[in-house]
Amino acid sequence: MEDKIKKAADLLLKSRFTTAFTGAGISVESGIPPFRGNDGLWSKYDPRSLEISWFMQHPQEAWTIIKEIFYDFFEEAKPNKAHLVLAEMEQRALLGRIITQNIDNLHQEAGSKEVYEFHGNSKRIICLGCHRVYPAKDISLAHLPPTCRECGGLLKPDFVFFGESIPQTALGASYEAASLSDVLIIIGTTGEVMPANQIPFMAKSAGSKIIEINTEQSNYTGSIADIFIQGKAGGIMEKLAIELFTTSLDNDQDGINQDLEIHGQ
Ligand code: NAD
Repeated sequence: MEDKIKKAADLLLKSRFTTAFTGAGISVESGIPPFRGNDGLWSKYDPRSLEISWFMQHPQEAWTIIKEIFYDFFEEAKPNKAHLVLAEMEQRALLGRIITQNIDNLHQEAGSKEVYEFHGNSKRIICLGCHRVYPAKDISLAHLPPTCRECGGLLKPDFVFFGESIPQTALGASYEAASLSDVLIIIGTTGEVMPANQIPFMAKSAGSKIIEINTEQSNYTGSIADIFIQGKAGGIMEKLAIELFTTSLDNDQDGINQDLEIHGQ
């Protein structure tokens, strides 16, 4: 493990452009369950509630489930060490871009700037009538489904439902990152969700080295990953940070240690 972390740090320090590709696993230590696996959301809820056609036909039932999954507890989640280390890497010019499949806004809350959301963001709510976008915190979910205060249209979380297209900005930024990257670091994704799952394969074809961090093997392990580091994202990223940032987190004067303590990780 230590040897793999040193090798990964070496690749990252030499890389001219690095991209992080993140999935639900990076947010598990923030208390947000992933979709798949024993404790995954799909063991409890029917994925149909996130199909756009079902949502349009049954907005009240769909919103009841969506509220329970994404708004009753997502709001309390805070970035963990893995999010914070990525933000610090960007500040130190060791990371060019994050492409995330997550919709929880935790990369931005950790301080990352170059974040491209492949599947949108649950912290925004959009009107399907006039396309006005509201911060989710400004929308009351006391009566469901919520409607637009301007036009009365149906409101929908501004994340990508099954059957909807991927936002163009994220698509463009992802393809560009895949072609530009010397190193792509994949954190906490099964690689099951199309078309996002293609980004690491595109990067590999364009010559990028692939580092993967996951508690379990994924579609990338043993296929395109040059270095697979098995374990929880928070602990592994903290060890990687120590290698990358030269001084240990305990002695760091630049703020990361303070941030980590603030977030109680
Ligand atoms: P997934 O649920 O399919 O898989 C999660 C992956 O994370 C698995 O490979 C698992 O082994 C790994 N993992 C679990 N705990 C981990 C940890 N502590 N550290 C490192 N890895 C860990 O998630 P996915 O592949 O990202 O795709 C599912 C889709 O679900 C995404 O497109 C995303 O939009 C959505 N989703 C998002 C959130 C979120 O925003 N936090 C949560 C659930 C689902």
